[in-house]
Amino acid sequence: MKTLPQKIVLITGATSGIGKATAKVFAKQGYNLIITGRRQKRLDEIKKKYSNKYVVKIKSLCFDVRDLNACKAAIASLKGDWKKIDILINNAGLASGLDPIHEGDIKDWETMLDTNVKGLLYMTKLISPGMVKRNSGHIINVCSTAGHEVYPKGNVYCASKHAVNALTKAMRIDLHVHGIRVSQVSPAHVEETEFALVRFHGDKKKSKIYEDFNPLKSSDVANTIYYIAIQPKHINIQDIVLMGTQQANSLFTDRSGRKFDK
Ligand code: NDP
Repeated sequence: MKTLPQKIVLITGATSGIGKATAKVFAKQGYNLIITGRRQKRLDEIKKKYSNKYVVKIKSLCFDVRDLNACKAAIASLKGDWKKIDILINNAGLASGLDPIHEGDIKDWETMLDTNVKGLLYMTKLISPGMVKRNSGHIINVCSTAGHEVYPKGNVYCASKHAVNALTKAMRIDLHVHGIRVSQVSPAHVEETEFALVRFHGDKKKSKIYEDFNPLKSSDVANTIYYIAIQPKHINIQDIVLMGTQQANSLFTDRSGRKFDK
């Protein structure tokens, strides 16, 4: 019989896209999961599906990472061993809008900064003290190539991910002396996510941005996160930047048709 890792992984934003794919990879490998997001129905479905399919325990917490009190209440609701989170995957995030700076919507800006930066900080603030106490833990932030480069109309989303990149580095300086690894993954375009639909405020036509090239899939990023997590304890992968082969950087994408599908 397969030995269970018996580790607990908390994944924010596990109701779709990269977070959901990451939940699947870790569940398949026998990690117990705490999945979070704002959509209870989705959380229930995922919990049922993966706990029937794999030999793992799954807990779901439904809350908005922008709401500090809701984050506090969710983490406070964890009892016993569920408090001992081994791996925190700060994945919940979004782009909202794609406008030049002078036409940007302030509500979009606040949504992105509150979710991508403050939400990540709230979760880290609540979970890292336990890791420090145990002298063990791993925090994996889902950054983006937008945390390394900027592109036209990407202004505030890029700023929020540059902040994630800075926080990953800063958190590592503060936490490495406590035996805690801090890593990040920085993907470019990823399909099998709701990212584009959310960015374009539910406009399905505008969100069809992956039809003329072959981007990464959510499972590609999930497998990369898993790879970061399973390294021996003396190794900390600090960042993995990944793009589909048809993408060279944030500005150059070969949109001459989908290639390399097989
Ligand atoms: P999805 O929209 O598919 O998933 C986003 C997840 O974040 C959902 O589960 C959503 O859950 C959750 N979420 C969003 N806002 C909140 C909130 N306020 N509170 C709690 N949960 C929230 O997109 P992706 O999977 O693509 O995005 C995951 C991460 O990957 C993000 O940080 C994104 O910036 C990053 N990324 C994505 C890329 C892409 O091309 N797709 C490229 C590079 C990075 P719910 O709605 O249920 O709350």
